[in-house]
Amino acid sequence: MPQTDSHLMRAYARQPVSFVRGRGARLWDDQGVEYLDAIAGVAVTSLGHAHPELAAVMAEQAATLLHTSNVFRIDWQEQLGERLCALAGMEKVFFCNSGAEANETALKLARLHGHRKQVAEPQILVMENAFHGRTLATLAATGNAAKQQGFEPQMPGFVRVPYDDIDAVRRAAREAPGIVAVLVEPVQGEGGIRVASPGYLRALREFCDSQGWLLMLDEIQTGLGRTGAWFAHRHAGITPDVMTLAKALGNGVPIGACLARGAAADLFSPGQHGSTFGGNPLACRVACAVLDIMERDGIAQRAALLGERLLAGLRLALGGHPGVQAIRGLGLMAGIELNRNCQELVGRALAEQRLLITVTRERTIRLLPPLICEEAQIDDIVARVASLCRHSGASHQAV
Ligand SMILES: *Cc1c(COP(=O)(O)O)cnc(C)c1O
Repeated sequence: MPQTDSHLMRAYARQPVSFVRGRGARLWDDQGVEYLDAIAGVAVTSLGHAHPELAAVMAEQAATLLHTSNVFRIDWQEQLGERLCALAGMEKVFFCNSGAEANETALKLARLHGHRKQVAEPQILVMENAFHGRTLATLAATGNAAKQQGFEPQMPGFVRVPYDDIDAVRRAAREAPGIVAVLVEPVQGEGGIRVASPGYLRALREFCDSQGWLLMLDEIQTGLGRTGAWFAHRHAGITPDVMTLAKALGNGVPIGACLARGAAADLFSPGQHGSTFGGNPLACRVACAVLDIMERDGIAQRAALLGERLLAGLRLALGGHPGVQAIRGLGLMAGIELNRNCQELVGRALAEQRLLITVTRERTIRLLPPLICEEAQIDDIVARVASLCRHSGASHQAV
């Protein structure tokens, strides 16, 4: 009997391609056709598919111990916590299984912080066009009406302002009582690859300090080398109070983390938060190996160089092209905004170019190649994307 998806809830608009094998930045479908991966499982497989060292570590841990629960001490969790804190200049970590859960943890910390300051109804400042996840709290924090629609009533406790606009933050502080924290992405990924100016993040840091607010950075997509630095906030030379990670941390093994320092690091007491699977030996050992490899192979520096190559290539091939409105990026996060809805390009890239891309906010092609790409693969991505855009409506459509 042929395989069908008729028993799967229709939460996704899926492409009719099924991959069965991968290696580095390459994938093969069930017909044996080879593809080039320019999305890395949406910023997850930064070290590429089927990394041999990670596969070996996983097999060894699977044959040793998978799960015991957080009732007991977990050595790999303690090691990973220490590694992450040292890397990020943070003090404490809570481990979970996804980005949304990491942000839920941050939101709970913000409310505890507020109550500790005697704020009865603490508010969290969030941004227009943001993306923080699909649980009810992170959905309320997300600045996208289309994703929120149908799930009302929305969880209260958020105040929204335009992104990359420090005056709007100052105004909100005057007008909305009870703000205790800011949650913001250093680069809005789902929001169309919008890069906050370094001055904005520095001004936010200062303003949060002056107000006693927690600065909470969602680095789920931008963290772990993606933008050409270990964490995107490094480009601005600041340190947040709370930072969330997930996506690339396990290179495909689910794991999320909420890191904190200062007042935010000691807010939880036993029983206030938890996760059955969070921080299990398998995920934590794999994440330790991910960090080892990233450090040893200079992955962040590599992403910086490859990212410059990618953006320069895209600008050369597509800059000034009719239909291309903007080319934006930082490190290996690149967005090409067209003047029209271009969601059909995802399917056409697969069929015509054997290339995996995503389109976000309907009109922005988003590229998130694995950080282990070879230079020739970056050039290949540029050539295939350019060919796709040139042979699409973007070229002959009147602007
Ligand atoms: C992907 C993403 C999330 C949600 O992560 P999940 O693992 O899908 O829950 C949250 N914030 C940002 C910035 C993301 O890119």
